[in-house]
Amino acid sequence: MSATTTFAPVCTLSRIDEPLPVLGGDVHVPLVTGGETPYAALDYAASAPALQRVWDDVAAYAPYYGSVHRGAGHLSQLSTELFEQSRQTVAEFLGCREGDQVVFTRSTTDSLNLLAAALPPGTRVFVFETEHHAALLPWQARGSDVTYLDAPRSPEQAVATLESALHAAPSGPKLVCVTGASNVTGEVWPVRELARAAHRHGARLVLDAAQLAPHRPVSLSELEADWVAFSGHKLYAPFGAGVLAGRADWLRAAEPYLAGGGASRRVSRTADGTVEAEWHTTAARHEAGSPNVIGAYAVASACRALTEAGFDRLVAREEELLARLRKGLAELPEVRVLSLFGEEADQVGVVSFVVEGWNSSHFAAALSAEYGIGVRDGLFCAHPLLRALLGQQGDAPGECGAPDGASGELPGSSAGVTPTLNA
Ligand code: PLP
Repeated sequence: MSATTTFAPVCTLSRIDEPLPVLGGDVHVPLVTGGETPYAALDYAASAPALQRVWDDVAAYAPYYGSVHRGAGHLSQLSTELFEQSRQTVAEFLGCREGDQVVFTRSTTDSLNLLAAALPPGTRVFVFETEHHAALLPWQARGSDVTYLDAPRSPEQAVATLESALHAAPSGPKLVCVTGASNVTGEVWPVRELARAAHRHGARLVLDAAQLAPHRPVSLSELEADWVAFSGHKLYAPFGAGVLAGRADWLRAAEPYLAGGGASRRVSRTADGTVEAEWHTTAARHEAGSPNVIGAYAVASACRALTEAGFDRLVAREEELLARLRKGLAELPEVRVLSLFGEEADQVGVVSFVVEGWNSSHFAAALSAEYGIGVRDGLFCAHPLLRALLGQQGDAPGECGAPDGASGELPGSSAGVTPTLNA
């Protein structure tokens, strides 16, 4: 059989409840082979539909929302209170320490870009090539020197690789960015050990918890991480809100991520006729503009739902589903499951596989059209990792976000695709 497969569908198996909380198991899709079948969404690693409970919370609040921190009116007061309560709920969900800040952002990508923009001058960043592009790209793009570390083949090797890179690094501020669980292999990274290694060498660590947070408890104090970033839309809340939480000092010392109202405490004209702003030193410093109060409220609602469901119960159920999937895949000789750390690795419910002889986009289309199963195919916004896992096969073109020609340009406007990002 010819090996034309490029890369694999990702299946995310985590469920809060069955049937699916929003789709309710009652979305039926037409099959090309005739008839209809209930739709099974197995691409939660990309985005998980919001829980019914989150929609209910948002719907109950939606008729009453008003501006935040911008008025004495009743609805403005109510919204301000709910916005700040949401921040508190998220702080508890993330095991924040005294003095930590919780900044509401748009997403994990936004959160990591915010931190990249807030690094003290001269900070050197250490990042494994295995990261999602959201954690791989912001640092260099925002002017930091970056040490890219080769893909490790075990959690122990990850720690040893980081230790020796940090040991060899010149003095000065350092940041390590690492994922909690891979969006490609689902493998869980040794976050606490990496954080300890970072701290031994005077570095700080930011955790990309986009995939870990929906599956496992994420506590800054227990994991000993300095910051954590995650996205609401992977945590069973709708799109549009994310979080960066952690140490306040670098965030306070940095220029505001966006300049504007809300971030500034006082603005005055100076003697030379320009303006001068005094910026907040709280999370508001990096939240300029009217905040996404509904988004923050939805994220807090999802945090409460996960906490109440209990991670013990969720992990147990997920392990059951994962074992079933892995057993089924192991029975198919043409299927190869992708893994960096090997079969024994601790893993959340994310599985990628290649099917010998199949192009993954054709395979994913067939799963949807013939079986009503939705999976993600492509390079999963982790191109260097796919290269490490698949060798040259991982160089095949694949999409990450909007394809060329659908890049958000209105018809008739000039194309705005940056060729180097189009791999
Ligand atoms: N990090 C990981 C591990 C992810 O899986 C993702 C999304 O797939 C991101 C970061 C980026 O998240 P967002 O697209 O919500 O910014």
